[in-house]
Amino acid sequence: MRRNDLRSTCWLILIAGVLLICRQCGITCADEARPPAPATPITLIDSAIRIAADDVRPHVQFLASPELKGRGPEGKPAAREYIIAHFEKLGLKPLFDGDFLQPLPGQVDENGNPTYVGANIGAYLPADNAAGAKEWIVLNAHYDHLGIRNGRIYPGADDNASSMSMLLETARQLANLKQRPQRNIAFVAFDLEEQLLWGSRWFVAHPPCEPEQIKFCMTADLLGRSLGNLPMRTVFIMGTERTPEFRKYLTAANPSGSLELGFLGADMVGTRSDYGPFRDQEIPFLFFSTGEHPDYHTPNDTPDKIDYEKLAEISTIMARLCAHLGELPEVPTWKSPDPTDPIDAKTMNRVTEALLKADDTGKIQLSGFHRTFVSQLQSKTGGAMRRGRISAEERVWLIRASQFLLISVF
Ligand SMILES: [Zn+2]
Repeated sequence: MRRNDLRSTCWLILIAGVLLICRQCGITCADEARPPAPATPITLIDSAIRIAADDVRPHVQFLASPELKGRGPEGKPAAREYIIAHFEKLGLKPLFDGDFLQPLPGQVDENGNPTYVGANIGAYLPADNAAGAKEWIVLNAHYDHLGIRNGRIYPGADDNASSMSMLLETARQLANLKQRPQRNIAFVAFDLEEQLLWGSRWFVAHPPCEPEQIKFCMTADLLGRSLGNLPMRTVFIMGTERTPEFRKYLTAANPSGSLELGFLGADMVGTRSDYGPFRDQEIPFLFFSTGEHPDYHTPNDTPDKIDYEKLAEISTIMARLCAHLGELPEVPTWKSPDPTDPIDAKTMNRVTEALLKADDTGKIQLSGFHRTFVSQLQSKTGGAMRRGRISAEERVWLIRASQFLLISVF
């Protein structure tokens, strides 16, 4: 995930913006409740699919081991070997014209020859019918990280070995299913996410199929910890504002129900990972993340800090949904978001509740200003939840407030 280096400037702009909005933004009371969504049967979610902590842990421990040198230039060849060997063992097909690797070009050298700066890794489970062979589901996570900096290794256990373990174990679960999917399911490990999403940008511009054949993208980044180390069993899911029917599938796929599904509009967090280039092409997407924490992009992002039970549960949801996408008669299409949908307010209300509780118990220390700000955010989102809708003006405020919170508190 890319850290925003305009932090101080944004900080000042947002403070001004938030203070301005606070003064203007009165309560808009629209009291009619939203009509309930029509109930449709959840028949296809395969609850036999289950990924355990012992399945994901070894992948994280290997990919974030000192030998992999933080999966920068020195460590990436070993990571590629490991990932390709896993795909081969499962009998998956190479994704790129018989090759598991899609080289990523850099600048041409002084003689005009192309140079290569990295490689995406891809494999797929083919559809069991001709029509389905023209449709693709792309499950992806980046495998690169920061490498070695100032002599120190950045292991990247959560960023992004955690999501890589989900990708590898989902490939195993689906490859072992009795029946082949109705459409192709691709498993892609992107390179150079840490450098302006170069790997996923190149993939979307040079896909292994016709661009319009990509029906859905599911990305994961940071799946093994919690937002700000808060005691939350939440996975944030961005993108359902374009395909709201997924909320019921995700709820049905939630193994024990002990995981909290925090639905958020992607515009609440901005472009944070490899789903960005797909979204830009209006390809329906889902982005899964447990959020940033103090060890993010530091040498302390180590395997011993990963919550493997939680990672396994999130991986199980994603694997079940992937299998579901392989079976659905039709993949949900890209829709305009409902601006009055209070779902973001519900999730931000939960985040502010956890923040205030952590501050009350001394787990974190909020400044006076932040305490006031978080309390106001909580009361405003609570109001929208009670009304069952949010006004367009309030949503603009909520986006700015959420981005300010993510930048200044977490
Ligand atoms: Zn990342």
